[in-house]
Amino acid sequence: MPLRRLPETTVNRIAAGEVVERPAAAVKELVENSLDAGARAVDVLMQDGGRTRMVVTDDGRGMTRDELTLALERHATSKLDNDDLTHVAFMGFRGEALPSIAAVSRLTLAARPAGGEGWQVRVDGGTAQSPEPAVLAPGTRVEVRDLFYTTPARLKFLKSARTEFGHARDMLMRLAMAWPGVAFRLGDGQRTAFQVAAEAESDPDSQRRARLAAVLGRDFADNAVAVHGVREDGITLIGLAGLPTYNRGTAQAQYLFVNNRPVRDRLLLGAVRAAYRDLLAHDRHPVVALFLTLDPALVDVNVHPAKAEVRFRDSAAIRSLLVGGLGQALAGAGHRASSTHGTATLGRFRPGGGMTPSLAPGDSARALAAQAPSGNASPLPAVSESAGLPGLAAGPSAAPPAADLPVPPAESAPLGVARAQVHETYILAQTADGLVIVDQHAAHERLVHERLRAQLREGGVARQGLLMPEVVDLDDRSAEALAARADSLRALGLILEPFGRGAVVVREVPAALAPMDAAGLVRDLADSLAEWGDLTALEDRLDALSGTLACHGSVRAGRRLSPAEMNALLRDMEQTPRAGQCKHGRPTYVELKLPDIERLFGRR
Ligand code: ADP
Ligand code: MG
Repeated sequence: MPLRRLPETTVNRIAAGEVVERPAAAVKELVENSLDAGARAVDVLMQDGGRTRMVVTDDGRGMTRDELTLALERHATSKLDNDDLTHVAFMGFRGEALPSIAAVSRLTLAARPAGGEGWQVRVDGGTAQSPEPAVLAPGTRVEVRDLFYTTPARLKFLKSARTEFGHARDMLMRLAMAWPGVAFRLGDGQRTAFQVAAEAESDPDSQRRARLAAVLGRDFADNAVAVHGVREDGITLIGLAGLPTYNRGTAQAQYLFVNNRPVRDRLLLGAVRAAYRDLLAHDRHPVVALFLTLDPALVDVNVHPAKAEVRFRDSAAIRSLLVGGLGQALAGAGHRASSTHGTATLGRFRPGGGMTPSLAPGDSARALAAQAPSGNASPLPAVSESAGLPGLAAGPSAAPPAADLPVPPAESAPLGVARAQVHETYILAQTADGLVIVDQHAAHERLVHERLRAQLREGGVARQGLLMPEVVDLDDRSAEALAARADSLRALGLILEPFGRGAVVVREVPAALAPMDAAGLVRDLADSLAEWGDLTALEDRLDALSGTLACHGSVRAGRRLSPAEMNALLRDMEQTPRAGQCKHGRPTYVELKLPDIERLFGRR
């Protein structure tokens, strides 16, 4: 075949394969054009998943008759100054979307500038007719019919209408998060699937928060902390990070933006995972909406036609900003746990039903008090002093019931005053305006973990020698793995050496944990090392391991606590970063407010 130049329509059809691989991608391009045109309201209609008809209408600056024709030409754009590809302030910049979509559909482009006339151009499979007058409000309206009718092969690969519509919806939600001042609507011709009004222009922070609440739900906004990170070079990170207890089964609900563009970037997603690593189980995922802003010269958004991936000049800096910024925000949340757990708990109470109260109302206080703890009344040495952890006396001993104790005013502390321990597992505390139930093991584990971490940061965990070094039998691989990491373990306060084949001998343990079951700890550590074997950063490894240590140094469920011990635990929780959740992302406590309790009893 002779060498020849491809006709323009063919070029456009090939480009269409990249730019508009599916209806949702076409909608995305059109909506981005509306945003670039300064629209305050964007309306999207998608019939039959976009296959038969899509209409995007905006109130942006519109186009003149001449601009209409030009807009449909390949590589015609109003958005690239000086052909400088490194500074891309607009969403679109290739001048490819309109001609590409027009090449594979029947498209009508109608526009009217403020104070000007309305015009429209019809394009059929890439062939444009001449402009004709049109009636419309100032702005632009793009109608796309029979998408891919010129490329039947492509049509066959389209997913169901519902899937396509879902993609468009997700895409529109993301754009809505990035553009709080713009109203969005998506419908399928029968009903509205997504709609947000323009948020009032207060300060940018509250405007963004309001929009995130509108898109992701009040629940999310109520269970998230604000993230604010700034680097010296001006790279900033803002947004909302869901509390670890407000987690999901997939990473779908992680909304990331670079210079206000929605992205799904692996580097960024990995940084989010790292920031929550120690706060969530491996199969749980946080909900976040994060906006990264940096000089466009420091990021290449031109990597992928759909522009979902980006490439950073200095990816290590970006990663540390995310991990650091998120870590700080979450530590600031302190003992806060997700309120949804309180709400979920409420749902489980049934008035007089599920629970079968065996006590007359007047008896319940005494009954609780009778179950309440015993033990000496000295505060938890473990958590309230820097020296060490649970010197918790084992076993019950006589003590006054909690109800008889002098009780400091509950208002003074967020987690209130311990009133009882039930089932040797949960602490009931009264707060100024409600009731808190603490999972003692989960809470204490977090406290020990955080204490170990602090000691680690400050130069090493205090150790205590064992009178009788303990030999622990393991399999060969575990013994080797432990021996190979003896140095890291030393930093954690654990001194062990190989002891023949398949065994190690433990000589010293973290003072914070003694007395303890060294064999059990070493076996768990071996398991952790196997599981986290791929962690390269020493820091990560130590953190993960100190979590395992903490578990062993914690008060178990089933252990009786004295009122003083319980109160010391509550006070420590209030002081300790991340105390609201255990390392698996489960809450360490739940809270019921008085009005909710009153509701349970039909008093409200
Ligand atoms: P790009 O967005 O990359 O410039 P497009 O093919 O998407 O390329 O659009 C081409 C041009 O048409 C844009 O640069 C813009 O000038 C104009 N245009 C497209 N859509 C709109 C719109 N909704 N409102 C105003 N102008 C528009
Ligand atoms: Mg565009």
